[in-house]
Amino acid sequence: MDNVEVFDAGVKGRGLKATRDLLAGDVVFAEPSFSAVVFDSLSTAVCHNCFRQQANLHRCVQCKFAHYCDRTCQTACWNEHKKECAAIRSSGSAPSENVRLAARMLWRIQRDTGVVSDGQLTSVDELVDHVSDLTDEDREELQIDVHKFMDFWPKNPRKPQPVEYISHIFGIIKCNAFTLSDQRGLQAVGVGLFPNLCMVNHDCWPNCTVILNHGNQSALNPALHSKRRIELRALEKVAEGVELTVSYVDFLNLSAERQRILKKQYHFNCTCKHCTEHIKDDLMMAAKEGEGSKPSAELIKQVTTASEECLEKVAQCRLQGDVHGVARLCGECLSAQENVLADTHLYKLRLQSTASEVLSFMHAFAEAAAYSRKTIDGYM
Ligand SMILES: [Zn+2]
Ligand SMILES: [Zn+2]
Ligand SMILES: [Zn+2]
Repeated sequence: MDNVEVFDAGVKGRGLKATRDLLAGDVVFAEPSFSAVVFDSLSTAVCHNCFRQQANLHRCVQCKFAHYCDRTCQTACWNEHKKECAAIRSSGSAPSENVRLAARMLWRIQRDTGVVSDGQLTSVDELVDHVSDLTDEDREELQIDVHKFMDFWPKNPRKPQPVEYISHIFGIIKCNAFTLSDQRGLQAVGVGLFPNLCMVNHDCWPNCTVILNHGNQSALNPALHSKRRIELRALEKVAEGVELTVSYVDFLNLSAERQRILKKQYHFNCTCKHCTEHIKDDLMMAAKEGEGSKPSAELIKQVTTASEECLEKVAQCRLQGDVHGVARLCGECLSAQENVLADTHLYKLRLQSTASEVLSFMHAFAEAAAYSRKTIDGYM
């Protein structure tokens, strides 16, 4: 933790700032997860240790729930899975991902306390939970999770878990958990808690980004294996003393929409420069300004609606891992948008960046690069 220190960021609570000048691309810090779980829907398709998506995973013979690439991944994960494995066997089935994550966090706190290395800047227990700020609907959901947790957690009449404490853990998950993607970066496959990352505050135009490094378990000697971890990387030059920020939401939304999401999920009003000055909002909804002919209002409306439908279909295809479907949908919709929506329109930018990701995964690098270039032009 040589590059950062904790400071009091006023209304934002605690924050992290740089203790030396950083360059674009620098790894500010790397951090393994405190706890992490694979999503319910992908529990047989993604390795529960390294979070890679693979065919023919081996399943844990005891609980028949956990799946791994091989013995190496299984062994590496045993400490994290052991008590979970016993609880799944005794309760007859695995509970939902949120409950599994809460249970893993609690087992780890009991085993190692809430601070697992001297590089960890905060204890897990000290993270904000915002339980008192929850809407009635969210509070109900949280109570359901707490009940499910109590059913799953091994019964020990001498050491019952207080409901308030379990609610605190679920609150922490709700506003601090980080979504993990597979090795292609295409699909969200799980969720985990990274305590240091939780300390990095939000800005819609951030100076850092988070990259997931899946680690390397391929060496024959396990001593050479590296763990799955996140890396916080600087996106630009950051001077010593400047606060480090990441974006909790996709920038490709209008400022009002970003503020709504941030308020709902993270319980704060974003007062970043881009939100207060509505920077780029008009550009994100602009129509094409061609020489002579402007697209008609009717056509703009038609293409905008079609784009919204297409973005939903793309999201579904992504969930199913259908990369060819994603590429086809993006291509079709982008050509319909071509002379109608401006190059800065958020629907165009979203589709271009998705197309670029998918095409590079499909090794169509020239096409992927062309889309990336267009995206960058749109941002400028
Ligand atoms: Zn694995
Ligand atoms: Zn098991
Ligand atoms: Zn903002």
